[in-house]
Amino acid sequence: MKTYINETIKKQIGEQITVCGWINKLRKMGKLVFFDLRDSTGLLQIICVPSEMTNGEILKDLGHEYVVEITGIIQNRGEKQINKEMLTGEIELLAKDVKIISRSNVPPFEIDNEERQAGEELRLKYRYLDLRHERMMKNIHFRHKVIHFFRNFLTDNGFTEVQTPILTKSTPEGARDYIVPSRLHKGKFFALPQAPQQYKQLLMIAGLERYFQIAPCFRDEDARADRSPGEFYQLDMEMSFMNQSEILDLVEEMMTKMVKKLFPEKHFTFSPWPKLNYKDVMEKYKTDKPDLRKDKNDKNELAFAWVINFPLFVEQSQEDFFHGSGNAKWAPSHNMFTAPQEEDLELLDKEPGKVKSYQHDMVLNGFEVGGGAIRIHDVKLQEKIWDLIGFTDKQKAQFKHYFEAFKYGVPPHGGIAPGIDRLLMVLLNEKNLKEVTAFPLTSDGRDPMMESPAEVSKEQLDELGLEIKEKK
Ligand code: ASP
Repeated sequence: MKTYINETIKKQIGEQITVCGWINKLRKMGKLVFFDLRDSTGLLQIICVPSEMTNGEILKDLGHEYVVEITGIIQNRGEKQINKEMLTGEIELLAKDVKIISRSNVPPFEIDNEERQAGEELRLKYRYLDLRHERMMKNIHFRHKVIHFFRNFLTDNGFTEVQTPILTKSTPEGARDYIVPSRLHKGKFFALPQAPQQYKQLLMIAGLERYFQIAPCFRDEDARADRSPGEFYQLDMEMSFMNQSEILDLVEEMMTKMVKKLFPEKHFTFSPWPKLNYKDVMEKYKTDKPDLRKDKNDKNELAFAWVINFPLFVEQSQEDFFHGSGNAKWAPSHNMFTAPQEEDLELLDKEPGKVKSYQHDMVLNGFEVGGGAIRIHDVKLQEKIWDLIGFTDKQKAQFKHYFEAFKYGVPPHGGIAPGIDRLLMVLLNEKNLKEVTAFPLTSDGRDPMMESPAEVSKEQLDELGLEIKEKK
């Protein structure tokens, strides 16, 4: 069994071990050969002295990124060779036997060279090589650790993880849907979920009370550094019988504990996090996601805050509202299931623009890293909101199932969905979501490695009853 390159091998001075991995930074100095061996857990300096080895003649064959197995003795490095930047910088492995497991072409870019990093196209075409970079590997590991923490925390707090369907029907989150043609029902289409919003609310009606999911969400939107084209992940949560402040407290506790455990070098600007009024925030900062850090150059400062008391509606614009019905003045500020605050209910008829809602946004260092709300659980109120946003009978008919469910005992409920990718981007001090995603799309929505999206065969189209129109 191979030994992994982690902290514990530092304690194995004088012992013989076998390590496996990739050759990084190969240096040949006369007869001596040095390299760093890279595995999924770290880097270890290897020294090969032909006279110390059973098969020294193999050294001339070694190349960058070759996969090798090395048996050798762990020893302390000389005082001058100690590398404090490296986890195993005080030790090295004196090779006794080196086996080449597989060879590598010369990679299209230098794997470990931060200064001369390749462009997006090349990095994504060879993503499996790009991920060999220490920083990228670290980001992927951290992504797992953060998700693992959330799973454990929520499980310990009585939540159940549920996988909701990917082949579903349009969910109104304000973006364009990805649609999937149905073979069995020609002319009909599934939509990929923009978020599991309706399902999680239906799970509350089912009586689950505390739900979460590491949910893939699909939105056909143009990319920005902090918005992926195509798909992204949310920590989707929903709870019954909890009011807004109870939900916010629970999420704040989870985030705080996660940061303290996994990012101990970070510090919080505020504890507890402030709950800011949307109106005040807009007046003061002209944005609803202000960067509240005291020192914006401090990489370890985290200024989490809540923004609450959003207006229930914004003025309708054709583009803003997903159906672009355009026949009403108002569109939902968050989504159309968000509950208005009780004290403003009477304003709904007279001055809808003044009604405040139970929407809540989680902001961090100038990014919106999560949003959610207390939902409407009264069917009459839901219908009223739909009328105000100009839902036609046809649009209402699309929510027949939701409406029907609301006739069978609905608990008060609400939730939130922190964005996993965006949260990680901030925590890991990355400038782009692609740095925290294993296989992202390019900014113009392609995967240069798999070459997707791709054409499909005429037979596949026929089977689906589809025809491609020639581009004009
Ligand atoms: N479904 C919402 C979103 O994707 C989150 C929520 O309201 O819980 O933004």
